[in-house]
Amino acid sequence: EGDVGKSVEELLRELEVSAKLLETQYHSILRHPDADEAVVQRTIALARGFHQQARRMKLRSCQSWQVDGDSEKAEWMTLLIGGGRRRFSSLQDVVKQVQLEGRIVRRWREQNARLSPLGDRLPAPGSGGSVAAVDVESWEGLDVFRLERETQQPLKQVFMSIWKRRELGKLSRASEHQVMELVTAVEASYRLNPYHNRVHAAEVTAITYYLWSQLAAQEHMRGYFSHLDLLVAVLAGAVHDMAHPGSGNDFLVKTQHPLALRYLDRSVLEHFHAASAFALVQEMGVPILEHTMPSPPAETLKGRIVDMLLATDMAQHKPVCEAVTTELAMHKAPQDIDKLKLECFVLHLADIGHPLRPRAQHREWSLLLREEFFAQGDEERRLGLVPTPLCDREKAPTLAKSQQGFLGFVIAPAWKSFSQVLGARASKPLDAHLCDNRAMWEEAAAEDAAREAAERAGAAAAGQGA
Ligand SMILES: [Zn+2]
Repeated sequence: EGDVGKSVEELLRELEVSAKLLETQYHSILRHPDADEAVVQRTIALARGFHQQARRMKLRSCQSWQVDGDSEKAEWMTLLIGGGRRRFSSLQDVVKQVQLEGRIVRRWREQNARLSPLGDRLPAPGSGGSVAAVDVESWEGLDVFRLERETQQPLKQVFMSIWKRRELGKLSRASEHQVMELVTAVEASYRLNPYHNRVHAAEVTAITYYLWSQLAAQEHMRGYFSHLDLLVAVLAGAVHDMAHPGSGNDFLVKTQHPLALRYLDRSVLEHFHAASAFALVQEMGVPILEHTMPSPPAETLKGRIVDMLLATDMAQHKPVCEAVTTELAMHKAPQDIDKLKLECFVLHLADIGHPLRPRAQHREWSLLLREEFFAQGDEERRLGLVPTPLCDREKAPTLAKSQQGFLGFVIAPAWKSFSQVLGARASKPLDAHLCDNRAMWEEAAAEDAAREAAERAGAAAAGQGA
């Protein structure tokens, strides 16, 4: 009541301060030498309670992207990141559904009690292998699918090519051999999912590098980036989906997966990838972020990588993009943009950046992601759960239709912001691919519609004949 006189901005600032304090206290308690099991449990319960309350409040109010009144976009974003509410026809339905989910989830959880990124996946000592130079500066020439076919180690090929080309060995205190072993282990942690696999890791590392390299080469960005920034960016790209289980955050939360419990339902996978990465670095004892420069310390670089990984949660798409558009609006020169915000944005854009690739590669990625989505939908159905809309092979929109939405509502605006920083000339080749890919899905959607119309007409004619 007493806060009614304050502006929304004031309240928001106060909330930010409180949230920061809450987070600090939470970490201080967990790290405290006197914190025993009981204290830790109580702290986690408090944090979980707070989080659940916030979630309930968010559910009651409308989702932030629905405010702009663009209903098709809102519908699409709900499809993409979940958050849609299920409708039940009666109370009995609800009870039945809850009982069923509880039973099935328990069984599934028992089967998947352990999800470890490491275990037997550590490479045998000396499994370095050789690396041929990959042309990481070429947008048209680099094809990670071909690298996969030829080497089965696309991530190592891309990462080590960048490492050598940019002489990161002179900067990092880790030896080239150590780095090679680390990247081999990171690559081995990726599962053989249709989409979230080592090829995707290689692709995201390559795109992150390419965007970084293009930005750094622009006259108007002279001196903006250091080689430490590059080290941070490519390492983030390489580890960003480590040990991905092949299903999304919503699924893990809904099935009360151990990872969802551990990370309190918040950016579950992204926390998991980051934690796995630094557990591996520590376990292998590779000082990759220790460096020869006077500052900043390795811990700071690690923190930046964690922030970048957390920003790859699709649910963060809007704030991550807005952070950069706000910076762009505030500063005349791209040089003045907050680098920490820009680097989060660059990794996120690279993560969803395949529509900027040539047609054949983009189409391949689109098919693979759909395959992984459908596998999740099948699993949901098998468990008796309602499949996530985009994962439901019986109800999902056609590939063309959903890609039109993805490229139009998600990729195009994000790319537009990035190209404002990069400059029109350097953006042109990627721009052309995005246009071409949008045209491809438009044609495909038109063909789908024509085929459906023909089928309907055929069915009607057959009906008349009978
Ligand atoms: Zn990814």
